[in-house]
Amino acid sequence: MSDFLQNPLVKQIAKAMNLPLPIPALLIRNHQPFSDTEIEHKKITIIGNENEISKSLHKILNTKCILTTEYENKFDGIILNATGIQTVEDTTDFFKEAQRLVLKINKNARVLVLTKVDTTNRESFAVQNAFEGFTRALSKELGKYGTTANHLKITNAIPENIATSILFFLSDKSSFITGQVIELNAANTTTSISNNQLLANKIAIVTGGARGIGAAAAHVLHREGAKVIIVDVPQASDDANALAYEINGEAFLIDITQNDAAEKIQKYVLEKFGKLDILVNNAGITRDKTLAKMSEQQWNSVLQVNLKATINLTEQFIKNGFAEHAKVVGLASISGIAGNVGQTNYSASKAGMIGYMNAISKTTSVYANAVAPGFIETKMTESLPLFVKEGGRRLSTLKQGGLPADVAELIGFLCSPLSDGINGNCIRVCGGSMIGA
Ligand code: NAD
Repeated sequence: MSDFLQNPLVKQIAKAMNLPLPIPALLIRNHQPFSDTEIEHKKITIIGNENEISKSLHKILNTKCILTTEYENKFDGIILNATGIQTVEDTTDFFKEAQRLVLKINKNARVLVLTKVDTTNRESFAVQNAFEGFTRALSKELGKYGTTANHLKITNAIPENIATSILFFLSDKSSFITGQVIELNAANTTTSISNNQLLANKIAIVTGGARGIGAAAAHVLHREGAKVIIVDVPQASDDANALAYEINGEAFLIDITQNDAAEKIQKYVLEKFGKLDILVNNAGITRDKTLAKMSEQQWNSVLQVNLKATINLTEQFIKNGFAEHAKVVGLASISGIAGNVGQTNYSASKAGMIGYMNAISKTTSVYANAVAPGFIETKMTESLPLFVKEGGRRLSTLKQGGLPADVAELIGFLCSPLSDGINGNCIRVCGGSMIGA
């Protein structure tokens, strides 16, 4: 990682000289395999409305962490249960409890705000929605401590169905995800994470898997037991082959924009493995220029690599090849949400990716979600001018860039049965970037 403010020597000098540098919090990360014991050391409390949901949460979390109401402690996680709050007046008690607890949060803690879509009347709908703004604002206040705050919006699920999602967002696998609203639907998953490898016997493709975020995703999928096929351009053969060797996977070298690429990849996978369980559409390029100066070639190349090739490959497996319960993840970008100067092509391709994942989730039985990274320290961002890089890092709640592994943990989660309640979402891994906020 090349973030100089994360360098211990720079930190020491800045401290010694009392320099007013925005030294970012050191994030605690967990890159161990998914496990039922992941948050067992964390002191967590549940506050807010006492109802069926909080009772179920107590039952679920009782054996998974140190569930406590001892307020002399500092907490590593706080669940604010706002489900059932229906009137503006009712938010006052919630506010008072949240305010009391916010002073009792450890560094690197996780705050989760739970709401349930309530269409009883227009006020209850508005009040439940109000917690989106609350969570985003709170995430910005807590970011300097490395603490994250996310909002889980329950639609038609009960807590038992979504326990594994709650565990993920309480864990240190989500330390670069903050200020997000995630919709949780009913799912048929069990409440516990088996200690066996989650993705054993699964076949996965990661496009653009030779380096950067794709390579990190390949590592996580392999760690969980999947056989990973790295698809990348022939020029990336050294990296792709070395990684395939390291993770006992396969490298399939092809430019995914080639006319017959989707057919060739499908033929290879089906002949060799008979099915595909996981497709991570990660390959992406930038060709930045303002619209006035952008060539047709620059427009087309970005749209072809980032969007059309994804559509071609995914449709090929939807026609034939996806196993039951298949999972697709598409790499979008905060640029696709907020837009960026000089990136009309890139932003369009990434917004298209978000739309395409959503369309798959609504029209097929395949689970599909988009992941939108913010500023991540990779080769793609290394080449940016220093002031752009510094802006990308510091203009965020956590005041730093993310690591490919931060994005990869979310990809791994979304490719696993742990996330079955999440479908058609776009989740940002951006450290609370102000860009695209
Ligand atoms: P990267 O440039 O490090 O890696 C991209 C990989 O895609 C490379 O291995 C490249 O060879 C491969 N690729 C490019 N064109 C291809 C093609 N036609 N066929 C096959 N493979 C091809 O990029 P990264 O930073 O790891 O980004 C991965 C994804 O995440 C991209 O879709 C990118 O747009 C997105 N993203 C990255 C960031 C970031 O900060 N790094 C932020 C937002 C979104």
